[in-house]
Order: sequence, then C-alpha cells, then structure tokens
Amino acid sequence: MKRVLLLGTVLVVGGLSAVDSSEQQLSQAALDATVIEQVRDNLYVITGSSPLDRSAFSGGNTGVYVGEEGITLVDTKLPGWGQALMDRIRTVSDKPVTTIINTHTHGDHVGSNAFFPESVQIVVQENTEANMGRLGMFEGDTAHGMPDTTYQDSLTLGSGADRIELYHFGAAHTDGDTIILYPGLRVLQMGDMFPWRDAPFLDRSNGGSGVSFPETLQALIDNVEGYDTVVPGHIPVTTPESLAEYQRFTADLLAAVRGAIEAGQSAEEAAASIDLTGQYEGYRTERMAAAIAAIYEELGH
Ligand SMILES: [Zn+2]
Repeated sequence: MKRVLLLGTVLVVGGLSAVDSSEQQLSQAALDATVIEQVRDNLYVITGSSPLDRSAFSGGNTGVYVGEEGITLVDTKLPGWGQALMDRIRTVSDKPVTTIINTHTHGDHVGSNAFFPESVQIVVQENTEANMGRLGMFEGDTAHGMPDTTYQDSLTLGSGADRIELYHFGAAHTDGDTIILYPGLRVLQMGDMFPWRDAPFLDRSNGGSGVSFPETLQALIDNVEGYDTVVPGHIPVTTPESLAEYQRFTADLLAAVRGAIEAGQSAEEAAASIDLTGQYEGYRTERMAAAIAAIYEELGH
C-alpha cells in the first residue's frame, strides 16, 4: 500500500504542476530560474528545474540546437511554457524551430509541444509515441503535438556539421528513452536517464525499469563515443565522469535492493537502511524510497 501511495504522490505533483502552468500565469520564480545558456558554439540549454521545487518548476532542460536550416529543440517543458521558450530562443537566433525531439513521454518534457506549429517535425523513440498517445494531452487542437517520426534503436537527423544522432538502448526511466549526441560539438544530452544526483524516477507504468537501468546506461557508455560534455535531464551541464558515476550509482542501488530482499527486509525497511551517500558525494536522498519500492515491485516483492 505504501508503495502505491508513493507513486501516486509523484504523479499527482506532476499533474498539478501541469495544470497550474497552463491555466495560470507562470510563477516569477520559475521564469527567473529558466534562462538560456550556451553549452558550446550553436548549442544552448534553456535551464530546467527540479519537480521537488514546485514553486519554481518549469520542466526538464531544453536543448536548443541552431542549425543551418533551422532550430532543433530537445524537450519542451510543462504545458504553458512555449512562449517563454521562444522568448529565450529569440535572444540567440531568429531562425524558425523546425524539429522537436522528445527524450521521453513525461509532461515536463513534452508539455509545450503543441505550442509550436504543425509544420514542426516531432521525433521520438517508437515506445514513446505509444506512451504519449495515452497522455490525453494531445487531442483535438493539440493533436499536432504528437510525434511525426519514430525510430527503434538509432536515427540520424541532418547532415554534415548539423548531424544529430538519436539512440535508444532499452528500458530505464521509461521504455522509450532517447539520448541525443551532437557529434560536431561533442555534447551528449541525456533526458531523465541521468536526471539529477539522486535515485531515478522509475516509471513502471511507462515501461521503466530499475533492474535494466544500470545495464542500459552501461550500453550507452560502451557504444557511444565522441563527447566531452553531458546535459542531464534537470540539473546543470556536467562531465562524462559524472555520467559514469551515475551509472555506478544505479548499479549499486540495484545491488543494495537485491541484498535487502535476500536479507528478508520489506521495501520500507530497505528504504530506511540503504544509504549510498557515503560513496556518492553530493547525492540527495528524496527519491530513494520511491525507487526502492519500484525495484521491489519489479522483482515481485
Ligand atoms: Zn521524466
């Protein structure tokens, strides 16, 4: 029962935020926290924030790639943020937005898709298209916020210096997570496969898996080369070493949960006893109990 309540709380918080920002004015705190920063050359990030910081929550980090032909956006924050995104984009470029890539189905990453014109090409991994179809967010006059193009394992958009590569390595945060490599700039954008320094949100209702999470991240690390900068889902730009540390964290979390199950602990007891903060400096613990409960459920306990 406890684990159902925990998951319910997460979903309700996300839902309320979406309603707040689409139907009311965006909070000044959220607008102030949402700035455009240059990552490298023609790649920018419009900063995201943490869902736990409700008064200033706008959604995840938004990538802004200014190509020869137009702008590619990666993720569009919560509903109601389209104009705020455009205001910030216009401070660095007057080119049209031609493409949106959504890293996964969540409302804080796809929420403002429909603000953009129908002509904008929206690209997602194929499982994310199915997940987005169940959101109920893209119907009637917002139906054009649904994807136009899908792929299974990998996809290349653009060519030459403007090449953008999309990869899917299996279930992790959801079953449709996309990682984006900007090869010309040596930057990797992670979505919520590396959301923050805390336990990941394991969205079991959209095929997420805490059991697969470490191996999915390891497959990415083993198979994708050519980046020296990493854009996480919700926290500031960081390093490949920090991404590798997150992979180890998810593996250690899974191992600790398996150990707790073998020791006969309940999910609640495991949440009270598992502490990885000694090994992972600066990591937070607000999301540990929910992740541990989700792994217990996935392992049939
Ligand atoms: Zn997410």
